[in-house]
Amino acid sequence: MTWQRTILRTASANGVGIHGGERVALRLRPAPPGTGVVFVRTDLGIAIPARAENARDLAYATTLRLRGAEARTVEHVMAAVSGTGVTNLFIDLSGAEVPILDGSALPFVEMLHRAGFEDQKVSQPELRVRRVVRVGDDERWIELRPGDELEVDYRVSYDSPAVGRQRFAGAITPQRFAAAIAPARTFGFLEEVPVLRERGLGLGGSLENCIVVDQGRVLSGELRFPDEFVRHKVLDLIGDLALLEFPLLAHVVAHKAGHALHVAAVSELLATPEAWELVEPDRLAPLSVRPYPGEVESEAALAG
Ligand SMILES: [Zn+2]
Repeated sequence: MTWQRTILRTASANGVGIHGGERVALRLRPAPPGTGVVFVRTDLGIAIPARAENARDLAYATTLRLRGAEARTVEHVMAAVSGTGVTNLFIDLSGAEVPILDGSALPFVEMLHRAGFEDQKVSQPELRVRRVVRVGDDERWIELRPGDELEVDYRVSYDSPAVGRQRFAGAITPQRFAAAIAPARTFGFLEEVPVLRERGLGLGGSLENCIVVDQGRVLSGELRFPDEFVRHKVLDLIGDLALLEFPLLAHVVAHKAGHALHVAAVSELLATPEAWELVEPDRLAPLSVRPYPGEVESEAALAG
């Protein structure tokens, strides 16, 4: 991943949000160099940059909020964007929540491929971790360790024998992301449904968009991978790490983590400037064929 990258054409999808249950139209649109990933609430006329400082409400999903406007459950589309190396993109939403589609990142990866990629011939700096940054406690934690590529080691442990202990470890290349991570679906435990519903969450969840586990049994058909659960945790992690706004070069070790810790790790890293450096691949010609004005986020985001 060396150049900034966007897509060639727009691509659209419709579906329900897993938490709010509302039907929402989503559209992916090309964005100029330097934009980053920006959610646009087309119903409110408010643009929300996908960055850690805008992240809120991290209990069951990742929500971005700015000026009273929200983009909820952004992590799966963010994982698809990051996993395909797209760095500049507008994501239009007609309502508050990203459609859950099949519960994985695969439909978003397919949309991005249908839209086609454009390498923008502007170099993309990457963020390389130089010193260990750790968040969490003895039970649940994340460490960002120095590394020359993005490598993940994620462990989960659940009481349900259908999940149990699972671990996924390895370098995350675009190929590995598309084949081994993107298809892994979100999951939930049947006994948690009443608690979720009481909080107004999970209203759009179903056996079609979520792996539902009841004690030791999976109710929603065949798993896509025997360890689909931990692979989905890696997917969520990649989506949340994208809130850094730079491709990450690090060895990320996560133990029983979740959205709150993923985003805490990003915030802690950004708050510790001595722990990282920005690097540009040295084979690239330095910067910009087309200088881009700074007001892109507010103006161009709302123009489409
Ligand atoms: Zn997820």
